[in-house]
Amino acid sequence: MKHYILLSTIALLAACQTAPPEPAPTEKVIVKVIKKVDTPAPAAPTESQQWLYGSAESRITMVQSWNAIASYVEAKAESRPNASVVLAPGATAEAADFLACGADQPLAAVFDADETLIWNLGSMGYFTRTGVGFDPAIWDEWEKTGAGKAQAIPGVKDAFKRIRDAGVEIIVNTNRSNTNIQGSADTLKSAGLGEFAHGRSLYLRGDAPDGGAKDGRRYMISDNYCVIALAGDQLGDIADIFNDKALTPPERKALTVAPAFDQMWGNGWFILPNPVYGPSLAGTMEEVFPEDTYWEPPKQED
Ligand SMILES: [Mg+2]
Repeated sequence: MKHYILLSTIALLAACQTAPPEPAPTEKVIVKVIKKVDTPAPAAPTESQQWLYGSAESRITMVQSWNAIASYVEAKAESRPNASVVLAPGATAEAADFLACGADQPLAAVFDADETLIWNLGSMGYFTRTGVGFDPAIWDEWEKTGAGKAQAIPGVKDAFKRIRDAGVEIIVNTNRSNTNIQGSADTLKSAGLGEFAHGRSLYLRGDAPDGGAKDGRRYMISDNYCVIALAGDQLGDIADIFNDKALTPPERKALTVAPAFDQMWGNGWFILPNPVYGPSLAGTMEEVFPEDTYWEPPKQED
C-alpha cells in the first residue's frame, strides 16, 4: 500500500512537471488612448499692440504729436512759404533740394493713413485672434470692408479741424491699393475724418508707377499744391530716400541725422510711433545694443 502511494505521488509530481502551465488568468484591460490635441493658447495682444492700441501713454503721445502738427501747419499757413517740404527728385543728404511752391498754389498737408490717421483695430484684432499673422489677401479684404472697425487716432480729428480752419487742404497718401478706393474712403469717413476723393485728396498705391514708393504721388500732389507738412508712421511717408533696402538700421538712422534732414523733424516732417509693424522693426543685437554700451553688474565677492 505504501508502495502504491509513493508511486502515485511520483506520477503526480511528474505530471505536474510536464503538464502545460495553467494559462494565466487573463484580464481585460481597456486602455483608453486619448489623442493629445494641442490646445491653442488664448489669443493675446503683443506687447507692441498693448502699447500702441491700448495704452494711455500711446494716446497721449498721439495727441501731443497731432497738436504739434496742427500748430505747425497753422503757423506755416500764416507765413505762406515759397518752398515745399517735398524733396525734389534726385535730392540727397548732401544736396537736399526741395520742390518750389508757386505763389498761387493752395497749401496742403499730406498724411499717410494706416497707423497715422487710423488704427486698424479690426484687421489687427483678427490677425491676432486667429494667429494667422499678416496676410495680404486678408488685408485686401480689410481695405474693402473694414469701414467702421478702424478708429481715428487720438488727436487727429481736432488737428484736422484746425488744419482745415487754417485753409490748408488735407491730402491722404496711402499704400492702400487703388483697386479699393471706395473701401478706404469709407474707412476714413467712418472714422470721422471727412470725405476724401481719389486723385484730389486721396492718393493710393498704383496711382504712380513706383509701387509702394510714395515720391511719385508726392510729385503728383505737388503739381497742384504747395505741401507744407508731411506726416506718417514710416520714413517712406516722408521721402523714399529713407527706404533704401541696402541701409542697415544704424545707417538708416544716421541718414535721418544728416543736417539737411535733421532740421526737418517736427518742422514740416513728422513721424508718429508704430511699434507694431513696418521697417522700423529691425536690427541685430549689436545694432540695437552697440558694443561701447556693453555693461554687466560687478561680480560679487564671496
Ligand atoms: Mg502707415
